[in-house]
Amino acid sequence: MIELKNVSKTYDNGSVALDRVSLHIGKGEFVFVVGASGAGKSTLIKLLSHEEVPTDGSVLVNGIEVNSLPKSKVPYLRRKMGIVFQDFRLLPNKTAEENVAFAMEVIGASRRVIKERVRTVLDLVGLLGKADMLPKKLSGGEQQRVAIARAIVNRPLLLIADEPTGNLDPETSKGIMDTFKKINHTGTTVLMVTHDKQMVDWMNKRVIEIVDGAIIRDELRGGYSNED
Ligand code: ADP
Ligand code: ADP
Repeated sequence: MIELKNVSKTYDNGSVALDRVSLHIGKGEFVFVVGASGAGKSTLIKLLSHEEVPTDGSVLVNGIEVNSLPKSKVPYLRRKMGIVFQDFRLLPNKTAEENVAFAMEVIGASRRVIKERVRTVLDLVGLLGKADMLPKKLSGGEQQRVAIARAIVNRPLLLIADEPTGNLDPETSKGIMDTFKKINHTGTTVLMVTHDKQMVDWMNKRVIEIVDGAIIRDELRGGYSNED
C-alpha cells in the first residue's frame, strides 16, 4: 500500500525533514506515527499526497511511484486517500450531509449515488440523526465525525489523519478512535499522526516513531513511548 525507499527531504532553506527513511505499510494496516514537533511527520504525509516531492528516494502508493506521476494524474492519486485534520476543516455554510456530499459532487458522482452513499457513511460514523445540522451546531467530536465521513465517502484505500483528536477531550477521542477502528475493519488502511499518548497506548497498534527525520522505532503493537 505504502512503500518508502531511502526517502530524504530537504527543504529549500536547508532544513532536513526526512533523512533516508524506508518503510512499508501493507493494505489494511492501522499505523500511528509519533514524534516531537518538527520530527518530520507532516512532511511524510505531504510526500504521500504529492504536496511535497522528496529530494531523494522513492515513494510508492498502491504500487504507483508518486514522484514521477505527471501533474495531470495527481488528482487520481489523491482520490485514493482521504485526509482528516485536527481542525476538521468543514464548510461552515453546508450541513453535515452537504459537507460529505460535496466531496462526491466534485468527482462527478450521480445524485442518486451521492444520496445513498452519504447516508451510508453518516450512519457508519453515527451521525445520521444530525445530517441536517450546520457544523457550528455540532460538538467538536461530531464535527470530526463529519470530517471522517467526508474523508471516506469516496472509498479511499488509505485514510490519513493528522492529529484527529488534538482538539477533543479523552472521552470524545475514544469514540473517534473506535470510528477509525471500524473503518479500518472494512479494509481501509489507516495512517494516523498523533501526540495523543493515551489513545496510542489504548489502541495498541503499530507505532512508528520519528526523531529528527529518522525512524527510531517501529513496533507491531506498541505504545506512545518506549519508556513505559
Ligand atoms: P512535524 O510534522 O513532525 O512537526 P514537519 O514535517 O512539519 O514535522 O517538519 C520537519 C522539519 O522540516 C522541521 O525542522 C521543519 O521546520 C521543517 N519544515 C517543514 N516544512 C517546511 C517548509 N515548508 N520549509 C522549510 N522547512 C520546513
Ligand atoms: P462533546 O463534549 O461530546 O463534544 P458537547 O457537550 O459539546 O459534546 O455537545 C453536546 C451536544 O450538544 C451535541 O449533541 C451537540 O450537537 C449539541 N451542541 C453543541 N454545541 C451546540 C450549539 N452551539 N448549538 C446547538 N447544539 C449544540
